[in-house]
Amino acid sequence: MKKYLLDLPSEQLKNALGHLVKQDYRIEQIRDWIYVKKADSFDKCLNLPKDLREKLSEKFIIRTLKAERKEKSLIDGTIRYTFKTLDKKYFYAVFLPSKVKGKNSVCISSQIGCQVSCAFCYSGQTKFIRNLTRGEILEQILTIENDTGEKISGVLFMGMGEPLLNFNNVLSAVKSLLSKKEFNIGKRHITLSTVGVIPCIKKLTDENVGIRLALSIHAVDDKQRKRLMPNNMGFEISSILLAANQYLKKTKSRLTIEFILLRSINDLAADAHKLARLLKKNGLLNPNVQINLIPFNPVKNSQFQPPSQETLDRFKNILKVNGFTVNIRQAKGADIGAACGQLGA
Ligand code: SF4
Repeated sequence: MKKYLLDLPSEQLKNALGHLVKQDYRIEQIRDWIYVKKADSFDKCLNLPKDLREKLSEKFIIRTLKAERKEKSLIDGTIRYTFKTLDKKYFYAVFLPSKVKGKNSVCISSQIGCQVSCAFCYSGQTKFIRNLTRGEILEQILTIENDTGEKISGVLFMGMGEPLLNFNNVLSAVKSLLSKKEFNIGKRHITLSTVGVIPCIKKLTDENVGIRLALSIHAVDDKQRKRLMPNNMGFEISSILLAANQYLKKTKSRLTIEFILLRSINDLAADAHKLARLLKKNGLLNPNVQINLIPFNPVKNSQFQPPSQETLDRFKNILKVNGFTVNIRQAKGADIGAACGQLGA
């Protein structure tokens, strides 16, 4: 079986290529073709000798994913990609165009399906199949860059899956995104969203890669959270907030609190006050912390409804009066099932 080069971090790449490529500068050329020039086959690596290209093609493969389907939003130009893996599994990634040239982002998946089973998320209703490999995580970005012709400058680990339950592959992909010789994306432009897998937040704190963390909290007490996120691994909200606080202190990064608003479930004024108290109690009334309110994006057969505009504004104002920076996250690609919580729909 051919070896998938994107699965290999730079030190392993050197070992894997070593029997065919002796000179270090040739290995760097190959790395440059894969990550910077975005070659999808060895035929395109024109500064490599022809016989080397042929030998490489016999033993290695650069890309494995097929963009099976592509849907573009008529509202905002968001593009949802359906990828097919070599073992014929499907997952999704989303291209988020910006009006500012060169400021485009992607929302990528880290797993096929998701074990956390959040009641409001379509990915959570999709059976968990497997983790994506390092290469499959990175290839989503390369394929989207090739297809759109646009440089990606922001990456959100907010697609299918809980990234911290695929810790090693996600961390390896993050290091490639940060590498000047690979993706060269700034740490402040990479956001990892998690439901709060505390041991992995601690490992990420120790790694000190400095990317932004987004905590999907979505509830104001543990009982309510268990109902909305049944497989949240039993970590208490206050312990998650404490781990996030330590992450913030060590990395000097930024933290986003993600809160999806569901009509008459967690959108009451009392919920907003409780959330403010909870965050203050855990030291998160801090200029580096921002709250993102996400009005529920409807998915098929869902028991939930979005909040009314009035409720949404009231919730936001209560948090603002308490001193927090609050954003209402506008849905992108809602007409093509690409908005938050809709992937898999
Ligand atoms: S919201 Fe995130 S963690 Fe929850 S089911 Fe969806 S993908 Fe998984």
